[in-house]
Order: sequence, then structure tokens, then C-alpha cells
Amino acid sequence: MRAEIIAIGTELTTGQKLDTNSQWLSLQLADLGIPVHFHTTVADDLAANVDVLRIAAARADVVLITGGLGPTLDDLTRDALAQLAGVDLVLHEPSLEFIETFFRHRGRAMPERNRVQALLPAGSEPLANPIGTAPGIWMELPRPGDPDASSVRLAAMPGVPSEMLRMFLEQVRPRLPGGEMLIRRARINCFGLGESHTEELLGDLTARGRDPEIGITAHEATISLRIVAHGATEEECRRKVDTARAEIEQRLGHYVYGTEDEELEDVLLRMLAGRGKTLSTAEAGTGGLMAQWLTAVERSPGAYLGGVVVPTDAARRALLGIEPADGAVRAELAGRMALVCRERFQSDYALAITQYPRIDPAAVMANAPAAFLALADADGVKTHEFNLGGNPAILRSRTAKSALNLLRLRLLRSP
Ligand code: ATP
Ligand code: MG
Repeated sequence: MRAEIIAIGTELTTGQKLDTNSQWLSLQLADLGIPVHFHTTVADDLAANVDVLRIAAARADVVLITGGLGPTLDDLTRDALAQLAGVDLVLHEPSLEFIETFFRHRGRAMPERNRVQALLPAGSEPLANPIGTAPGIWMELPRPGDPDASSVRLAAMPGVPSEMLRMFLEQVRPRLPGGEMLIRRARINCFGLGESHTEELLGDLTARGRDPEIGITAHEATISLRIVAHGATEEECRRKVDTARAEIEQRLGHYVYGTEDEELEDVLLRMLAGRGKTLSTAEAGTGGLMAQWLTAVERSPGAYLGGVVVPTDAARRALLGIEPADGAVRAELAGRMALVCRERFQSDYALAITQYPRIDPAAVMANAPAAFLALADADGVKTHEFNLGGNPAILRSRTAKSALNLLRLRLLRSP
């Protein structure tokens, strides 16, 4: 079972309007467990419409069409569907009456042009449109060139998003196969692994066509695994999600840090609060990003004591009393920042991030510069060299997340 969505309208192909119908319909079909393989956008042109309909009918089982049902000369969906099926347009009396009544209730006579909206390809079914004039069209056709195969289902709906939405929910969805299937989703978040490495560790779990499906997406160095399970009952879906979750956790181990919309800072502060421990931060290169995230967490008050932003020698002297040392290696600087920070805030842990060296974009691939991260605790301080290569657009969040992750891993080791 695969679907294609066709958006018809020159206002779409010229870029004047954004095709939001296809996006909304795709989410709806996903909920029904019907995968969408193609989005096609086409101008108000009869030959082009017939072309895309032919292609869609040959490669999809369900074809959802929006737009081109209006009364004007550039509204060609009816004609295109009739040509595709090789049939004539015939007048559908009840639809004509509905359109006449629609205008009468607005105190107007029906313009003659609106008559065409009651024309339907012979053998098709009208789809009621209680909030507009044009009915939609439902058709089931043998697959072109393969009459023995299962038929193709086509639904043509208005372009106006509110009319399309209502017609889909009330008329189209109940006619679709698999409409009674349930779908449940879950998300598992990981940090510290690249996308391809994650895929490697997951192996067959991410194979296509598997149920539940597991997809990988990356956002600012956080990797999310999205589980999509289909089932006849809630219980069946939950069992599939739970099994997939357990498999993922077993394969990825400590790289998994949370679920749904949890961020590293949420999880970290919860772990700290659970242990009755506190954290402070000193940041140069990330300009306070850790502090911004940590202060936005509402659920674990008290675990984050505060932080300083110290991107210059002057700031480090004023706020941490650190004098710029001659020839000081930056690894040592990170360590001192974390130690002094911990002492000044009287926190159990302190995280520090040094400033970034000036990055020459041309040279970055060959020899990526490094910053240093440090974690101070009751036992002293540990520093880590952090490679600043990779996508510069996410450098700050990647560094800040790496620092938070250092402490998360440290806490995991000593519960
Ligand atoms: P009607 O029967 O109301 O005339 P129609 O089927 O002829 O509708 P169009 O004339 O193609 O539809 O479009 C009507 C309105 O809906 C326009 O404002 C158009 O920009 C908008 N529209 C059409 N298609 C889409 C789409 N795919 N996504 C978002 N808006 C759309
Ligand atoms: Mg149009």
C-alpha cells in the first residue's frame, strides 16, 4: 500500500502559495499507516494534469488530489480525471441541486459557470462538501496496463484548506483501506554518536519495511530514534514499542539519555536532584549556552546554582580571579576555570568550557582546532580535548551538550 499526493494549482508551481495541503494529508496518512511515496505539484494545465494522474495511477494505490475543482476555466481536475478514466463527464443532479441551494441561501442565483461543478466523470462518486460549492470526486480505477492488479483509489478534494480538511476527515478517510489500523509513536534520544555510527549499531532494526519502523533523525548533534508501530489494538502497539525500545537501549547503552522531548539538561538536573547534588558552570566559547539551557529547566529546582560567562582574560580575572598565565596550556585553563567555579559557587560539580581558538574555515577540514572541557568534583578535575571540526552552525550546541554529557556519564558511573 503506497500513496501519492498531487497538489494542483499554478499559484503553487509559481511559488506564490505554499502547498500546505500535501503536508497535512501526509501526516493524516501516516496515522493510518499508509506510507506516502510521492508529492507531486502541477500547474493548472490539462495535459500536465492528465500526465501526472497517469504516472500516479501506475505507481500508487491511493492518490489524493487537491485543487482545481472550482468553477473557472482553469479548474481542470474533473476533465483530467475523466480523460484518465477514458469516460465522459456526466451531470450529477443532486450535486447541482446542492449548489443551487447553496447560492439561494446566500440570496443569489447560481452563476451559470458553477454548473460545471456538478459534472462528474462517469462511474465516479461525489464527495460531499458541506462548506463549499464543489463536491469532491471518488474514483476506483483498474491499474493502467495491469487490469488484474488491485484497483487504484483516487480522491479529488478542493484546494481551500478548510474544505479539504473536512472532506478528508468525513468522506475520504472512511473509504481508505487500513483506516481501522492504530499507530503509536515513541522517540528515544541519544548523544555522543554520529548518525551513521548509530545506524551501524542498530543494524537490522532500521531496515525498511520493518514493523515497528525505526527512523533516525539528527538535530544539533542529538540523535533521535523515532519508533512507529502499527497494530489492531492499543496493547499490540505498546508491546511493539516496548520491544523496540528495549532492543535500542541494549544496542546503544549509555548513548541513550532520554525519551520524547527530553533534552540533556532535563535529564542531568533530574539525576543531580535525585542525588541531592549541585552544579555550576563557567563558559567561554559557548557564551552561556549551558547556563541558558540549565536555567530553563523547571522540574529540578535547586540543582543548578548558577554560572559565569568568561570569554576574555578580563572576565576570567574579574569573575574567577584567574590571572592570564604565561604560556598556559588551554587544557590547564579549563581545569582551573572548573576548580575555581566549583569553589566560588560551593557546588558539588562544576563544568567549564574554554574559548574557541580563531577558526579558519578554509583550514578547518585539514586540521580542526580544539577547545577544552573540564569537570571538577570532590576528587579534583578532569579535562577533555574537544575537536571543533564538523558543522560550524551547530558548534556551540554540540560543545555545550558534550560538556553536560560528561557529567551525565560521570553520574552514571557512580550512582
Ligand atoms: P474552490 O472549489 O473553492 O474554488 P478549488 O478546488 O478550485 O477550490 P483552488 O482554486 O485551486 O481550489 O484553490 C483555492 C484556494 O486554496 C486558493 O487560495 C489556493 O491558494 C488554496 N490552495 C490550493 N491548493 C492548495 C494547497 N495545496 N495548499 C494550500 N493552499 C492551497
Ligand atoms: Mg486552482
